[in-house]
Formats: sequence, structure tokens, C-alpha cells
Amino acid sequence: MKTQKSILRFALFAFLACAASLVAQPDPAWLTPFPAFHIAGNLYYVGSEDLGSYLISTPSGLILINSDFEASVPLIRKSVESLGFHLSDIKILLISHAHSDHCAGSAQIIHLTSAKYYVMAGDVSVVESGGRTDFQYGAQKSNRYPPAHVDRVLHDGDTVSLGGTVLTAHLTPGHTRGTTTWTLDEPQGSRFLHVVIVGSPNVNPGYKLVGNKVYPQIAADYKRGFAVLEKLPCDIFLGAHGSYFDLVEKYPRWKDGDKNAFIDPAGYKAYIADREQAFEKELQRQSTPRR
Ligand SMILES: [Zn+2]
Repeated sequence: MKTQKSILRFALFAFLACAASLVAQPDPAWLTPFPAFHIAGNLYYVGSEDLGSYLISTPSGLILINSDFEASVPLIRKSVESLGFHLSDIKILLISHAHSDHCAGSAQIIHLTSAKYYVMAGDVSVVESGGRTDFQYGAQKSNRYPPAHVDRVLHDGDTVSLGGTVLTAHLTPGHTRGTTTWTLDEPQGSRFLHVVIVGSPNVNPGYKLVGNKVYPQIAADYKRGFAVLEKLPCDIFLGAHGSYFDLVEKYPRWKDGDKNAFIDPAGYKAYIADREQAFEKELQRQSTPRR
């Protein structure tokens, strides 16, 4: 048994070491199980401690946002079932962006369900090639994952509807060509709460913002993304990673009875402003000629 445990530990270490090339530092929180919970209306959290996955329940079936890593799929299944839903009822699969920590499990989810895969145009070739056409990580074998066929190509402002629920896909590119910020409205009492699931406004280590031959318009794309994010009305602030919106800090408040713990318009504004500042600083650094 001890040997089995050691093997498992080694496997986890090897996996995180591989994933390290995608993000600056491997984060064990990616695969740490997290309790599934009801956010608002028909929206639920089914991700891990740091990989944000979201379930939307409708009378016509379920929508899943983010399949995460292949190793995440059993965790997502457990979360979906703990809420009383069935994974097989997922009809539509969406992603935040085409990086392995949000989409490597898509082929498996599609295999286990009858889900149709809807992806923003800029990310389609990346998910269909299993990461091979990614502008930054395409050459790294450690970032490959099972390719998944896209059933519907999305464009900025497109809506996705199922059973009376409507989500809007906002193109917020830069982090990937097709990074998508999802919005939907959830009823609360006599009003609607604006939900924003941020795709990623982050500049990864090694990203070339100036003179990028593979992705020449990357800096302009980030700017376009920030302009969109700044204008989105937000009550409930969510994102592709729990760390964007302080999941680990907010969840205990929710558990203690504060069902509004994720309503955080000020936190959303502050996060976007902070990320924009970080982008501008990096752009400035890369634009300054070295002596
Ligand atoms: Zn990413």
C-alpha cells in the first residue's frame, strides 16, 4: 500500500512538474478537491480549489464551463453528482480558454456525455489539435492533450442558449487568441444579478508582447480585452481560476450562511484594474530598449 501511495505521489509530482511549463509555478490547488456548491439561480461551482468549473442546470439539460485537466474529470463528476445531477446530462461544453488547465479534459467529457463543444474562433484550432497550434506552448509536448472536435465556432457577442438560460460569450483575447469571458444573469428576489466568469487577463511568464512573430497583435488584443472587461456590469465575480476571485476566502463565508459572499462588484473592478496595470507594466518593460 505504501508503494502504491508513493507511486501516486510520484505521478502527481510528475504531472505537476509537466504542467509547470504552462504556468510559472505548479499549484497543488489545481487538483485539490473542493466542495461543490450553489452560487445563484441555476449556477453551481463544480471546480477544484483553484480550477474554476461551473455547472448550469436547465430543464433541457446541463451546461459545463471548463473541463480542466484530464485528471480533473473524476473530480468534476463527483462534484456534479454531489449536487444531485448526472454528468451524462451535460449537453453543452464551454471553456474559458484553450490552455490545458481549462480544456485538456474536454475529449473525455464529450466521450462520457453527448455534449456539444462550443469554442471561440481564436481557440478552435488549438483545442482541435490538442494544444499543438498554441502560440506559446505549441512546441511543448508536455502541454499536449487529447484533441476534441468543436461543434460550434463562437464569435464575440454570440449567445449560447439551453432550456431558457442564455450565456453571452465575450472575446477577451491576449492570454489566448480566443479567451472568452462568459456572462449570464441570475434572478435574485425581484432583480437579476450579473454574473461574470473572467476568461483570463493574465500575461504568462515568457509571453512576448512586443515583436511576437507568431501572434503579432497580442498587445492590441489584451487592450481590447481590458476595454471589454472594464465595461461589463458585474455583481457575482467568478473566473477560470479560484484565485482570481478569492474562492478560498469567500467560500467559508458562504458556508456560514452568507449566500451573497460571491457578490463582489468592487472586487471585480479592483481585479481587472490590477491585471491591466500588470499588463501595462510588462508591456512597458518589453518596449524599453535594453542598453
Ligand atoms: Zn491560461
